[in-house]
Amino acid sequence: MLPKQTNNTLFFTGNHLSRPSIARRGKGFSRAAWNELESEVPGECSVLKIGSHVSFSEKGLLSAAQEAISYGATTFMIYTGAPQNTRRKPMEEQYVPEGLALMKEHGIDEIVVHAPYIINLASHKTDTFRLAVEFLQSEIQRTAYLGVENLVLHPGAFTEKDLYYGIRRIAEGLDEVLSAAKNVNIALETMAGKGTEIGRTFEELAAIIEKTSFNDRLRVCLDTCHVHDAGYDIVNDFDGVVEQFDRIIGLDRLTVIHINDSKNPRGARKDRHAPIGSGYIGFDAIYRIVHHEVAAGKPIILETPWIGKEEATKRPMYEAEIALLSDNADKRFGPAFREDVAKLRAFLRDVCGEEAGVGGNGREYVLAAWAVLHDKKQRSADKREPMERLYDLVIEHDLFPGYTEEQINMRLIGYFAGL
Ligand code: FE
Ligand code: FE
Ligand code: ZN
Repeated sequence: MLPKQTNNTLFFTGNHLSRPSIARRGKGFSRAAWNELESEVPGECSVLKIGSHVSFSEKGLLSAAQEAISYGATTFMIYTGAPQNTRRKPMEEQYVPEGLALMKEHGIDEIVVHAPYIINLASHKTDTFRLAVEFLQSEIQRTAYLGVENLVLHPGAFTEKDLYYGIRRIAEGLDEVLSAAKNVNIALETMAGKGTEIGRTFEELAAIIEKTSFNDRLRVCLDTCHVHDAGYDIVNDFDGVVEQFDRIIGLDRLTVIHINDSKNPRGARKDRHAPIGSGYIGFDAIYRIVHHEVAAGKPIILETPWIGKEEATKRPMYEAEIALLSDNADKRFGPAFREDVAKLRAFLRDVCGEEAGVGGNGREYVLAAWAVLHDKKQRSADKREPMERLYDLVIEHDLFPGYTEEQINMRLIGYFAGL
């Protein structure tokens, strides 16, 4: 019988010589359309490559690009269909030339595709595993059709088996898929470690890479919410986390960054995303990551939840998040936005007082409100999350008459950012 999961050294021996490194391939888009795009974007390195998950329904790549542009994004991520199922329209019906033309017009030269969650390469069930392999193969073709280089994949969950089994099974599946894949990388995502999810530690990802023969096409996508929930201290020691990543996986594998705040404290293994600044990670930590040298030139993707009191009024905060993380809020929203945030800051200081910690960017308030929510007894009395509580205060005092819920929430994001 195989030993249980807990000891990684059983199958991954750390920083030994076989840490699988890859040759730098540069920005190897093979398609003419993409090469052309690159040459026409002057000084692209000075601009953050930042965007969000956008919808690929309606008019496929065209509506995805339109949505991304409406947020002021310089990249974006799509699922080629619903993330939770395998129904997919033929790519010929997805407005690809139209989308590429619009992207070119706006200097968007790299995007990311995310594989659906239902793919579980770690499954011991033959039908689940076969579906995962076959669907991943078709997903690679759709990704290649778009001229996209990186396909993000959740490694898988070992369910009734164990970690050791799961890692070998994933490597087996990846080898079958990658032996035929020509132009697409698979970026394994760092996971929060909820349930039997594999990829919580850098060692687990390194073990998958090491066990996969065709591993020169394997990359890694770092998700801030996931690594935080997995236990890595990206808030106080991102450099240390980067150092570990480099030692165990190799920084040359890092190709995509997902930025999300987290509704849970470090190590909680929950995987619940929050808008930037409204969770345990905070705006400053995410800002440092986005502007860190390891993120330079890489697609940085928001997967933060849409915010609103009712399902129908929920709106994405992406436009504000992108502008604030890019130091672009004044240009994007005009001077009134900054004035509104200042008004909001003064108001919250008056209503909640300095002792509530809402004077600067609400950091202490947010953390205290989450602590209450994580206390079962106190939670049942009031389930509202910190951002919703602050929104309700604004409404109660009619601070911004005539503003939509979305406008108020965007200003709260500005407040969390310390604008
Ligand atoms: Fe993901
Ligand atoms: Fe993610
Ligand atoms: Zn997640």
